[in-house]
Amino acid sequence: MNETCAIIVAAGRGTRLPGDLPKQYLRLDGQALLRHSLARLTKNPSIDKARAVIHPDDLELYGEAAEGLDLLPPVFGGATRQESVLRGLESLSDLSPSKVLIHDGARPFASEALIARVAGALGAHEGAIAALSVTDTLKREDNHRVAGTVDRQGLWRAQTPQGFRFASILEAHRAADGLNLTDDAAVAEAAGMEVALVEGDEDNFKVTTPQDVLRAQRLLSPNLETRVGTGFDVHRFEVGATLYLCGVRIPHDRGLSGHSDADVGLHALTDAILGALGAGDIGEHFPPSDPRWRGAESAIFMRHAAGLVAERRGRIVNLDLTLICERPKLSPHRLAMRQSIAEILALPLERVSVKATTTERLGFTGRNEGIAAQATATLALPEGG
Ligand code: MG
Repeated sequence: MNETCAIIVAAGRGTRLPGDLPKQYLRLDGQALLRHSLARLTKNPSIDKARAVIHPDDLELYGEAAEGLDLLPPVFGGATRQESVLRGLESLSDLSPSKVLIHDGARPFASEALIARVAGALGAHEGAIAALSVTDTLKREDNHRVAGTVDRQGLWRAQTPQGFRFASILEAHRAADGLNLTDDAAVAEAAGMEVALVEGDEDNFKVTTPQDVLRAQRLLSPNLETRVGTGFDVHRFEVGATLYLCGVRIPHDRGLSGHSDADVGLHALTDAILGALGAGDIGEHFPPSDPRWRGAESAIFMRHAAGLVAERRGRIVNLDLTLICERPKLSPHRLAMRQSIAEILALPLERVSVKATTTERLGFTGRNEGIAAQATATLALPEGG
């Protein structure tokens, strides 16, 4: 039962935007603008089946934009928007849905609630359109001068989706053939249909100008927030062990003792990243009791923490590590250690800092019993992530 179908109109040749691509195929957040519109309609619970009306030249672009979405095969549009909609409606007549929502392909932000409002209003009305009341004062112009003020009382800006009982709008479109009306409500009006106004949404704008493209990009990129985490770790020296610090083998007469390769620097960094994520600590993710991590390269732990950042669509802004020991002298190895961390995490070198200090022969590090490390990690994460 195809109760409610949707037609997404994307056959136009937008000429107001720069670039070679028709505007509905401009890329927003890595995907064609049209894909965002298609996804909103196909995934809406109010819509049973959806079909796009496209330009014949765009078949390949469309195939890419629609990949994986649950859509009927596209149909080709005509010379005008009105003609394209009529072709879309005719193509659905075999399915004879009871209702149809007609939506501009260049409106990528129709919310689920907005689509549901329009579809829902068709229970009581022959037609229903998303619209916003006009809040700016309107001027009539004559030769670039104000020639008068238009009373805005009762004026609305029409958006899409515009929904209609299917049989009525198909008949209205057939009757209006050749009139070149700019929206489907105008076609319905011409046929004497009753069309209700449903509250639209300012974000449901039509991408038309370069400013609109920027606005759309802003809406798609989430606000990032800064997160900071700290890490601290200590490992004791063991004669006969190999010393690894930040993934670099450091020549010394002893190494560090531990379950894994005991890389105290990478352990502190891993904890700092996990801390910034609020994702526990290294011991929780890699229990020392688990034989899999015996002698393991600690790069695995840090890469895992960085993977969690990527899963949250975040990124590491910078890392800062301080290694604390009396010996060996670490300054000759600082660059190699920074390079190693930067390489493990695919970060630019200037985002990775490694410092070394002593404790003036005080305490366990002063007595050459082991190495301590403390780290901070700064992350940029999408808000709410
Ligand atoms: Mg450790």
